[in-house]
Amino acid sequence: MEAKTKDLWVFVETAEDGSAKNVGLELLTPGKSMAAQQGGDLVAVIIGHHTDEAVKAASQHGADKVIVVDGPEYAHYNTDAYVIAMVALVEKYGPTSMLVGATSNGRDMAPRVSCRLKTGLTADCTALAIDEESGNVAWTRPAFGGNLMATILCPDRRPQIGTVRPGVFKKSAPVDSAAEIIREDIHVPADQIRTQVLEIIHNLQEETVDLENAEIIVSGGRGVGGPEGFAPVRALANALGATVGASRAAVDSGWIPAAHQVGQTGKTVAPKLYIACGISGAIQHLAGMSGSDVIVAINKDPEAPIFDIADYGIVGDLFEVLPVLTEEVLKAKAE
Ligand code: FAD
Repeated sequence: MEAKTKDLWVFVETAEDGSAKNVGLELLTPGKSMAAQQGGDLVAVIIGHHTDEAVKAASQHGADKVIVVDGPEYAHYNTDAYVIAMVALVEKYGPTSMLVGATSNGRDMAPRVSCRLKTGLTADCTALAIDEESGNVAWTRPAFGGNLMATILCPDRRPQIGTVRPGVFKKSAPVDSAAEIIREDIHVPADQIRTQVLEIIHNLQEETVDLENAEIIVSGGRGVGGPEGFAPVRALANALGATVGASRAAVDSGWIPAAHQVGQTGKTVAPKLYIACGISGAIQHLAGMSGSDVIVAINKDPEAPIFDIADYGIVGDLFEVLPVLTEEVLKAKAE
C-alpha cells in the first residue's frame, strides 16, 4: 500500500494489567528522531484493555499522538484480534514506518501484519536510522549467524516494519506532555478469534531473571566449567545485588537455564556494570551486552576478544579472582 502520512508508529505493547511494556516505551526514543527526519509525527499505537496508564506513559515518553484500541477482546494478547485491529488501523491512517518490540507477542503479530499488508519486515534490528539518500528506514541486524551486520531498506512497500528486542534502546526520562489521543472502536467478533486463553501459568523462573532491567549483571561462560562453577559467579552477584547472566555455551551445556542467556539469541542487556567471567567474547555474545556502560572481563586468556571491548580486564583464573572481588565488595559494604 501507499503511505498516507509521513508518521512513524511504535506499537506500545501492554502487559496483562494494561500497563505499557518497557520495550514500546524504549522504541519511542529512536522513533522520535526518525519521525522528525521523515517529516512526520511519532505515533504510539496501543491495543489492549484498561490502557489508561499505558496511554499516559506513551505520552510522557515522547509520542506526539496515541492511537488507542481498548476492549475486552484485547485483554490478553491473541493473534487474530490484534492483527485484525492493527491492519485496520494501518489501512485507515497509512503510516510510512512502524516499530514493534521483538517480544513473543510482537514477533507473532508483526510478521502477520506485514504479510497481510504485503510489505517487508526486518526482524531483531540492533540499530535504526533514516537513509539520507533515499529517506527509507535503514534497518540494521546481524546476518550470517551474527558474523556481519546487514543494513536493509524496504524501498517499494509501505509501511516499512521492523522489530527490535527489549533493551536495545533506552527509555527517555518521562516529561509531562499532552499527546493527542485518538480512540478507535474496533470490535472483533468472537467467531473471528480462533484461540481462547483458558489459564495463565506464570513462569516463575523467567520472572526472577530480569536481565533487561538489571543495573548490574555478573555473567558466567564456558570458563566456569560446570553448573557448580556458577557458585562464585552467584556469590559476587549476591554481594553486588546483581542479576546472573550466562553465555550460550553455558546454557547449551545445561549448566544454567536459558532465561539467563545474554546475546543474539538470548537477552539484550544494557546494565551500568557487566562483569563477564570465563566468556571469550564471541560476536553473538557481544551483540547482547556491548551497550553496557562499564564492562569488566575476567579471563585467563590474555588474547580473549572480550578484552577488546572491556573497560577493565583481569587476566586470571575466575575461581581465584571472583572470591577476592566478592570479599572486597562485602568488606566495602560493611564499612
Ligand atoms: P568459549 O568461547 O568457549 O569461551 C570460554 C572462555 O573462558 C575462554 O575465553 C577461556 O579462556 C575462558 N576460561 C576458561 N577457563 C577459565 C577460568 N578458569 N578462568 C577464567 N577464564 C577461563 N552466544 C552467546 O553467548 N549468546 C547468544 O545469544 C548466542 N547466540 C548465537 C547465535 C548463533 C546463530 C550462533 C551461531 C552462535 C551464538 N552464540 C551465542 C554462541 C557464540 O558463538 C559462542 O559460541 C559463545 O558465546 C561462547 O561462549 P563462551 O564465551 O562462554 O565460551
